[in-house]
Parts: sequence; structure tokens; C-alpha cells
Amino acid sequence: MKVLVPVKRVIDYNVKIRVKADGSGVETSGVKMSLNPFDENAIEEAVRLKERGDASEIVAVSIGPQAAQEVLRTALAMGVDRAILVTTDEAVEPLGIAKALKEIVLTEKPDLVILGKQAIDDDMNATGQMLAGLLGWGQGTFASEVVIENENAKVTREVDGGLETVQLKLPAIVTADLRLNEPRYASLPNIMKARKKPLTTLSIADLNVDVAPRLTVVSVAEPAARQAGAVLGSVEELIEKLRNEAKVI
Ligand code: AMP
Repeated sequence: MKVLVPVKRVIDYNVKIRVKADGSGVETSGVKMSLNPFDENAIEEAVRLKERGDASEIVAVSIGPQAAQEVLRTALAMGVDRAILVTTDEAVEPLGIAKALKEIVLTEKPDLVILGKQAIDDDMNATGQMLAGLLGWGQGTFASEVVIENENAKVTREVDGGLETVQLKLPAIVTADLRLNEPRYASLPNIMKARKKPLTTLSIADLNVDVAPRLTVVSVAEPAARQAGAVLGSVEELIEKLRNEAKVI
């Protein structure tokens, strides 16, 4: 079984996001970038499937600037066998990413595609679902467990109020939730070995898909600053403030 793992280079989750002065987006220059955290779960799951003998090859793919090859090297160091970088300097929306990934799927012919459930920069939570729609494949989103049984994948999903288990006929799409697993750290020897693993590069134009944006960002703003709290001396004082200041009772 071949597994394809699409991974995105995003602003590192430890970085405090700064909104650009003109409100057109967030500041990315000089900011630490990393592998999208949910994609680490996707890679980890693919590597565990290989360790269990369910998967034979893992291919990672990233669509983004040349610098996205760093996150592919991290994926290779975690146990991915081979990587594909599809270069573009434009910001591509989930529909465009899904169309580009569909072309990669048609060439690579994986049995399973494991994506992150969402990218933490745009919080779209859409690419896996769109890719499943474009391919006409089944999808198990927000996976907290994946079990391969013959021609099927049994996926336990984290849904509101509990867990749902779905059975998908392969080939299929899975999107990884945080509780799926604990991603491993890439060890130094594996980081060294990853430098020698194959990484092929193509341009998004080579895929011949329409990735023109459909959305326009109107404005980006910082969340409103929270008002400071106050420690009150008595219940009577609280009631007085609720009645006369907040006017909620
Ligand atoms: P999103 O729909 O943008 O929240 O992203 C969901 C998932 O789609 C991510 O966790 C990745 O697995 C995949 N993905 C999104 N953007 C890219 C990209 N530029 N290159 C490769 N995979 C991507």
C-alpha cells in the first residue's frame, strides 16, 4: 500500500502572530516557519502504518515556495521515503491545492492520502474534503484512529459529543486530528539520512490546473483586547455592578 501525505509550511505555532499595519494579512517576513502540526500527525500515522507492515511506501508532497523543501526534509527525517515539491510563490486556496493534489494522486496512484485536518495559518479545514470530492473517493475526517483491514480503512472520527467509526473502501482520504498519535522527533542520524532521500521539484504550472484565487481577503485584524478583571469585596457589590454597570440583571 502506498501512502501520500500532503504537508504545508506554515508560521510556527509558537510564534506570536503580528497583523500587518495595513490590515492586508499577517507578517511572514523574518518569521519562523514549520511543518503544520496536524501534518506531523499525518506523517506519524503513515510511518506507523509502514512499521506495522500495512504500508510499503510513503510519499510527502508540499505546494509552496522553494523554502517549503525544509518541511519536506523534516518529513523525510520522520520516516517518509520520498518527497515532491510543487513550487509556487502565490498563496493558493484549498480548492487550488486540492486540484494540484488530484494531479499528483493521478500520477502517484496512492491507496491512501493522509492530510492534516487543517492548516493552522488559514484554518480552512477544507483541502482533504475537496480532494475527496474531486477524486470521488471516500473520506474519514478528524481521525483519531486508523486501522487497515484488507481493502478497507476503518477510521474513528472525533465528532461533537463522541466518536464515530466509518469504514472506507481504499483508495480513500483521511484527515488527521491531534489525538491520532504523538508525532516522533526526527533524530540527528535520521536528519542526516533525510538529506540523501529523493526530493523532486516541479512547478505548479506543470500540473496545468486553474489555481486562480476565488476569495479576496477584505481585512485582517487583531482580536479585541480583553478588559481587565476586578476583584470585588462582596456579593452585594457584585450585584450592584451587574445591575448598574454591566446592566445584565
Ligand atoms: P486547510 O484545508 O488549508 O486547512 O489544510 C488542510 C490540510 O491540507 C493540511 O493539513 C495539509 O495536509 C493539506 N494542505 C493544505 N495546504 C497545502 C499545501 N500548500 N501543500 C500541501 N498540502 C497542503
